[in-house]
Amino acid sequence: MNILLIGSGGREHALAWKMAQSPLVDVVHCAPGNPGMDEIGPCFDVAADDVDGLVKLALQIEPDLIVIGPEAPLALGLSDILRARGFDVFGPSREAAQLEASKAFSKARMTKYGVPTAAYDEFTAAAPAKAFLRKMRAPYVLKADGLAAGKGVVIAQTLEEADAEIDEMLSGKFGSASATLVIEEFMEGEEASVFVITDGEGAIYLPAAQDHKRVGGGDTGPNTGGMGAYAPAPVVSEEIMARVKCEIAAPMLKGMAKDGMPYQGVLYIGVMVTPEGPKVVEFNARFGDPECQVLMKGLTGDIVPAILVAATGGLKGAEEAFEALLDLDNFQPAATVVLAANGYPGSYEKGSVIEGVKEASALEGVTVFHAGTDVTEGGKLVAKGGRVLNVTASGSTLREAIDRAYAGVDAIDWPGGFCRRDIGWRALKP
Ligand code: ATP
Repeated sequence: MNILLIGSGGREHALAWKMAQSPLVDVVHCAPGNPGMDEIGPCFDVAADDVDGLVKLALQIEPDLIVIGPEAPLALGLSDILRARGFDVFGPSREAAQLEASKAFSKARMTKYGVPTAAYDEFTAAAPAKAFLRKMRAPYVLKADGLAAGKGVVIAQTLEEADAEIDEMLSGKFGSASATLVIEEFMEGEEASVFVITDGEGAIYLPAAQDHKRVGGGDTGPNTGGMGAYAPAPVVSEEIMARVKCEIAAPMLKGMAKDGMPYQGVLYIGVMVTPEGPKVVEFNARFGDPECQVLMKGLTGDIVPAILVAATGGLKGAEEAFEALLDLDNFQPAATVVLAANGYPGSYEKGSVIEGVKEASALEGVTVFHAGTDVTEGGKLVAKGGRVLNVTASGSTLREAIDRAYAGVDAIDWPGGFCRRDIGWRALKP
């Protein structure tokens, strides 16, 4: 089978790496790909949000399956256009992808289907938003409705700070993404990410993972796209997972299907494990990055049958067979450490030379996934993005996986970059 994979981050490198190992797969084509993906299959210079270019490419390659990695093309309706052309696509429709692309849409669906989440309201004008705030307790959670690259959420400690933020957001701080504002109750607890592969009816649950959003050790400093992850995350006990399935995932999938928007692809459930049980922080319409890297590294079975059935349908009632192919019972604990360019998530330099990736990849259990890398004409690997490499490892225990990942980090010589040194601390704490 030939696959076309869309995207160019660490998430897509991990997906390409895993799918290429499947006996069902001949070639993984990538668009636009990155230097790591280039070693797996042919890369085509078409951007992930160039819908016309991607449709043209698909018609040229005629892949048996198209896997969409990032959110931008999903929000633009790429899956709908490709499905209308007869392709099998892993990724939700534009309508269903609004679970990520619009927080107001997502909250309204959760309310309709009785899914536990923070109490909220949405606003397009400052006065009613400020009046609503006064009925709530600090801290105040303010969210731009639309996609804001993970930066559209502000947690304000005081009313003054919240009022000022409301004014800024509604006057275009995040462009049209903050024309509508969601204000919600603050949820106390520990966060985790649960991934459901679904064809809209059946569901396969992958082991829960945990991301590290803050740039600094001990979860300090500004938010980032994610500085590292591990799986399985012990905060999602069997009991919590069972509640996520029946209180969150099942009613969402059923409700979306009933309302004519069946969700096909992977649903990312950002869960807050609160004293009252799991509640939804957010949904995303794709795999998390960097959570995907640890899931692909830890899975010992074949991911392709699950991805294919989500794209083509027929999962309901056959879940156990697909779980067996994924070999979920033998999932290996895995961890990934993000190497980012100095200065990230603020402004950072591009072009610094990275050495030692081959040496790191040769270590037992270690795979280095590329994200923001480039290769110079002279063949040198250089940094070109904020998050640049994901040093990922599996092991017989999470401790071993983390130690291996850091051994990989230490084998890489890149003075232009940094990483967090405490990935997995919540799982390792006594
Ligand atoms: P991303 O997609 O990058 O995760 P986002 O912009 O879609 O971010 P959210 O995930 O909704 O935003 O929120 C970002 C972070 O803010 C969450 O990971 C969580 O730590 C915190 N947060 C959001 N909502 C709440 C809430 N109601 N209570 C407590 N913390 C919250």
